[in-house]
Amino acid sequence: MQSAPACENRPVNGLSNIDMARDLVASAKRVVALTGAGISTASGIPDFRGPSGVWTKNPEAEKLSTLQAYMSDPEVRHRAWQERLESPTWKATPNAGHYALVTLEHLGVLDTLVTQNIDGLHQAAGTDPERVVEIHGTMREVTCMSCGARTPMPEVLERVKAGEQDPACPEPSGPDKMCGGILKSATISFGQNLVAEDLERAERAASACDLLLAVGSSLSVYPAAGLVPTAHLSGARVVIVNGEPTQYDSIADIAIHGPINEVLPAIVGSAPL
Ligand code: NAD
Repeated sequence: MQSAPACENRPVNGLSNIDMARDLVASAKRVVALTGAGISTASGIPDFRGPSGVWTKNPEAEKLSTLQAYMSDPEVRHRAWQERLESPTWKATPNAGHYALVTLEHLGVLDTLVTQNIDGLHQAAGTDPERVVEIHGTMREVTCMSCGARTPMPEVLERVKAGEQDPACPEPSGPDKMCGGILKSATISFGQNLVAEDLERAERAASACDLLLAVGSSLSVYPAAGLVPTAHLSGARVVIVNGEPTQYDSIADIAIHGPINEVLPAIVGSAPL
């Protein structure tokens, strides 16, 4: 688990950043939340680019996350399956940050939750799956890169546990013939296109909201990060909550640098800070 920095919450004109963000949330009618890996670090899932991130510690790992490396190198796939098997996601449970967004939904103002996360913890917390756009896919399913068949991840992990290093697609593709295609988690790798309808839905929501709440993202991965300027240019207020500064802090109405599992409950009104 990663410790996030203490909260910067200096009062300006008698109001702290938290107070001002809470006022913006309280007066919003249509909120889009954009979440990143930082909302799940308090659940024990490391991020990529934060101070204790997987890629901050091992920059080589980023190269192995490209679609090209995965499709061309059985050794990369072998390592990827072992990492999936050992992922902290399987034991992780939602934290106060995820639950704060459920509170926002219960207040009737959460329009859409766009997440870059692949861990499924927003749905596990109780956010309506219909409101969630998993813009980078999900690691709870597996997809065949040849025939497109989807399988629950646990089924394929059982095969890996039983000794298969690079399990192939078992779907039938003719009499006595199986597809045999390369299997991958149903996530978007670098070099892979996003699902067009997910991106369109996210962009429509960001253009139509009156408050964009960006949480736990370095805002450095596109096109997801572009939802922040999209909302800003459409006239929405922007609140950013992250442990460190982002490139879009300058266009945000309020940027709060502090631990999400404390800050988010405070600004949606589900806990004091
Ligand atoms: P990122 O790793 O680029 O950035 C995470 C940000 O969160 C960092 O700036 C870090 O300082 C901040 N942060 C971490 N813990 C925090 C905390 N407790 N409180 C406050 N801030 C905290 O992540 P990203 O912007 O989501 O983009 C990278 C990609 O990583 C995404 O495509 C996503 O699919 C993938 N990813 C997802 C998971 C997951 O599903 N949980 C985990 C790792 C990476």
